[in-house]
Amino acid sequence: MHRDLHWIDGTPVPPANGRWLDVFDPATREVAARVADGDASDVDAAVSAAQAAFPAWSALPNSVRARWMERLADAVEARLDEFARIEAEDGGKPLALAHDAEIPRAISNLRLFAHAATQFSSESHHGEAGLNYTLRLPLGVVGCISPWNLPLYLFTWKIAPALAAGNTVIAKPSEVTPRSATLLAAVAAEIDFPRGVLNVVNGRGPEVGEAIVRHPAIKAISFTGSSAVGRRIAGITGPMLKKTSLELGGKNATLVFADSDWRKHLDTLVRSAFQNSGQICLCGSRLLVERGILDEFRDAFVERVQALRIGDPLQAGAQFGPLVSQAQFDKVLACIERARGEGGRVLCGGEALDRAGWFIAPTVIEGLGPECATNREEIFGPVVTLQAFDSDADALMLANASDYGLSASVFTNDLGRAHRFAAQLRVGMVWINTWLMRDLRTPFGGSGASGLGREGGLEAMRFFTEPRNVGIAL
Ligand code: NAD
Repeated sequence: MHRDLHWIDGTPVPPANGRWLDVFDPATREVAARVADGDASDVDAAVSAAQAAFPAWSALPNSVRARWMERLADAVEARLDEFARIEAEDGGKPLALAHDAEIPRAISNLRLFAHAATQFSSESHHGEAGLNYTLRLPLGVVGCISPWNLPLYLFTWKIAPALAAGNTVIAKPSEVTPRSATLLAAVAAEIDFPRGVLNVVNGRGPEVGEAIVRHPAIKAISFTGSSAVGRRIAGITGPMLKKTSLELGGKNATLVFADSDWRKHLDTLVRSAFQNSGQICLCGSRLLVERGILDEFRDAFVERVQALRIGDPLQAGAQFGPLVSQAQFDKVLACIERARGEGGRVLCGGEALDRAGWFIAPTVIEGLGPECATNREEIFGPVVTLQAFDSDADALMLANASDYGLSASVFTNDLGRAHRFAAQLRVGMVWINTWLMRDLRTPFGGSGASGLGREGGLEAMRFFTEPRNVGIAL
């Protein structure tokens, strides 16, 4: 059976403790591979390698670091099919989604930040007190911890700016979907990427993740995952005064106004709720619809949801696959039961499918208000609720009735309303008449329970560098 090891100092390394974890195929619930169940001693070894590599990597001209990252992007692109297949098998996502969107996006992340390495500049100030210029220095060894839902896409979203800025990295992919990040490290070794610059330590969050977070030689933590774990990490890094970026959960609203071309947008609306079986932090899990179109909208939306092609991730044409794990499957079913208990009416779905894998039918629920747990807590699965609103004020109140603050989508043809909502929604990202349209240079992230700080473009380059101001008397 395939085994994913650690990659430390450019070399595959088994876990020091000799322990392994099972990796499951969500479409069959069978063990498909094994991954190193590492611990703090593996993290120590990786930190030593990263510390040794830092002086040479950080001293390279930016253009040379950029060239290394472009070569890594090229090497991933050359093996796109293999990466996509691994991603589909590990995560249970449709192969087309991995092949056409997620792995290409991982490649774009590497290329974008290769360019950022050569384009990043810093400020200078004069005319008030001598001449000042600001250096932007790499931090040293940094830690990147990523989740299972978009494995390589989110892994590269962190390691690429960290490397571009001149840091060396200890990265931990999710133990649920470790294979693509581990293959990336192997591909890096194949192209002779400088050793010790990118180290992957596999294992569970409380062991490897927390050892990375607590390690005194790791100067910053970039974390994407659940709000609960994000809070725990903040509790550790706060007293250490360690730089921390937290990209956490979401409970995003999608607002549909009567004046919008909602029929034209139905595919986007269904995708925004159910892409990757609803396991994307940006999915719109609360659909808010103007009352005048509610009946018509409900029928058309549910019909489109029921037409989703559910299938094995590797089956051609499949649009909707299983959930990633037994834990997710159990959690989502429990959330659906809770919604029923709160008085929700299930319009479609609401149950597990009679298939081998962890499949739950795409589910639409109505009849629940903003105070219900179903509308307040992140489910992170194929469950969306429908609520009606009567006015702009009502729509805004419902949309903002959340502790989370990640993203929102507004469908309207009223330009003034679109801009008013963009300014008044309490989220980090707003889309107008679309969903998940990403320019990788823009700030990415949320507030409240959705996290702290922003990733993307120069925001990420700033996170992974320390400013040092130099003042010169003239
Ligand atoms: P998770 O918090 O359970 O795990 C995320 C990562 O953290 C994994 O690698 C895990 O092993 C590690 N981890 C777990 N406990 C840890 C600890 N105590 N210390 C350090 N690391 C630890 O999240 P998940 O279930 O893998 O992912 C789903 C969550 O991620 C959802 O809440 C989703 O909204 C969120 N997410 C957010 C974004 C975003 O950009 N805001 C993107 C994708 C996913």
